[in-house]
Amino acid sequence: MRTIVVATNNFGKVKEFKELFQEDCLLTLKDIQYDKEIEEKGNTFSDNALCKARQVSKDTGYIVLADDSGLEVAALGGEPGVHSARYAKDHDDQANNALLLKKLNGKTQRDARFVCALCLYFPNDFYFMAEGYCTGVITTEARGTNGFGYDPYFLVPEFNQTMAQMPLSVKNKISHRAKALQTLKEKLNENSCN
Ligand code: IMP
Repeated sequence: MRTIVVATNNFGKVKEFKELFQEDCLLTLKDIQYDKEIEEKGNTFSDNALCKARQVSKDTGYIVLADDSGLEVAALGGEPGVHSARYAKDHDDQANNALLLKKLNGKTQRDARFVCALCLYFPNDFYFMAEGYCTGVITTEARGTNGFGYDPYFLVPEFNQTMAQMPLSVKNKISHRAKALQTLKEKLNENSCN
């Protein structure tokens, strides 16, 4: 059984990752008492995921899974993008959503997508990358109370529900994170590493 460190302390993400790596032993950064702050300075989600995974693997010697995710809005030229968590204020969902709505005020073109980049990094410097997307439309009013971040304003047209209106079990089937995990799993299988 391999041990993989998930480079997050977000319980929801750890739960999703556990579904992918069933036979492996998953540890969080907290489990290994790793508390070094890693700045996300990259221009892309993939850059940030790779940077985080590589850094933690180098520091600890573990196989590391890292992710970076966020929202891209077409009418805003891809904003908030890699700045999603700190668009208006660091990890302040309410302030970030308020800024998003302000910037979209009066716009009818409100297409958006969630993006998730994953990196699985091995101590021998071999790594796998995968990306997943979920497309939707930004609403003018909040709907639903589930989820986090931009979920209350992210309408998935096929379901006619925002991500905050869906049960987590449904979100976990269609989300950017779920799709990136699926792609990563396929790549691992192709390379007989799983
Ligand atoms: P991180 O991947 O934890 O850095 O998340 C970046 C930011 O993107 C979060 O703080 C949220 O604002 C946003 N985000 C990422 N994934 C989701 C999601 O599934 N729903 C809503 N917001 C998300």
